Amino acid sequence: MEIKAREIPYNIQMRRLLKPRMPFSEKELRQLATDEKGYEGECYFDGLILNSGASSLLQLNDLMLQWNDNVFQIDSLLFSPHKIYLSDIKNYEGEYYIEGDQWFFMSGTEVKNPVHQLQRCESLLRPLLRSIRINLPIEAQVVFVHPEFTLFQANKNLPIILPTQLNSFIGKLSSVSMKFNPTLIEAAKKLAALHVKDSPYYKRHIPNYSYETLKKGVACKSCRSLTVQLDGQKLICDLCGYTEDSSSGILRSVGEFKMLCPERLITVTNIMDWIRLNINRNRLARILKQNFEMVGKGKNVYYRQL
Ligand SMILES: [Zn+2]
Repeated sequence: MEIKAREIPYNIQMRRLLKPRMPFSEKELRQLATDEKGYEGECYFDGLILNSGASSLLQLNDLMLQWNDNVFQIDSLLFSPHKIYLSDIKNYEGEYYIEGDQWFFMSGTEVKNPVHQLQRCESLLRPLLRSIRINLPIEAQVVFVHPEFTLFQANKNLPIILPTQLNSFIGKLSSVSMKFNPTLIEAAKKLAALHVKDSPYYKRHIPNYSYETLKKGVACKSCRSLTVQLDGQKLICDLCGYTEDSSSGILRSVGEFKMLCPERLITVTNIMDWIRLNINRNRLARILKQNFEMVGKGKNVYYRQL
C-alpha cells in the first residue's frame, strides 16, 4: 500500500525542460544522465515491489527528512508490523571493487561509499522515528538493481543486496505477513507528513538561466526539439513528424513556461513570445480563456490556473 508516491524529482523535470532551450556543458549532461539513471533504478525497484507480495507493506518513497538541522533523503521505506526496511537504491553499472573502507570504479576512480551514506541515513532516521513514537527496528540495505553490476572484494556482512540477491530479497519482503493495520498506517502517515517539500536540495544541478537566454518555441512532445510548427488544428514536428492537437500542445507549452518562469504572468503577449507559433492572437486568447481563469481587464488581463 502506497503511503507516499515517488515523483519525478523536480531538478530532473526542470533539466528535461531546459535541455532543448539552452546549452548544457559536458559536466551538466553527465550529471543529468547520472541522475536520470538513478531515478530509473528507483522506479525499477518500485516495480519489483508493486508486482510482488511486498506490495502489501506500507511504502514511503522518496522522502526528504530533517533531524537536528541534518537533511537526509530516503529512496524507499517499507513498513511492516515488526520492522522498517530502509533501502538506498543504486543503479550502478559495471565493475566496482572495495579496498578497506573505500569503493572504486574499475578504472580506479573512487566513488562515495554507499554504505556510509546508508548508515548516515539510518542514524538520523532512528531518533526521528523515536521522536514521533515509532519504535520499530530498522533493517537498512543498499540495493543494487542493475543486472550488470559487479562488486569485487565485498565482505559478506556488508548491508548490501546485489543484483543476484534481488529476487530472494523481494521474496523475503513478500513473505512478511501483513494484515490491515490502522495503527501502522497512522504511524507511516505521520512520518510522511514530515517530508520536507521545499529544500535547496531539490534545485541541485539545475543550471542558471534567464527567460531572455532561453530558446523559445514549442518543444516536441516526442523528441523535445523546438521544431514544432502550427498546421491548422495540429502541431507537427519538423524533425520527427510527431503530430499533436494544437490546443493540448500549446497548453503543454504554457505548463513548461509556468514551471521555468514562474515569475512571469501568463498573458497572450507572453505566451505568443514563448511558443513562437504562427497563431492568431484571438485564437490563442480563446485557448487560454477556456483553460485558465481570466484575471483583470483590458490590457492588464492575465490568466491563472483554475
Ligand atoms: Zn519531434
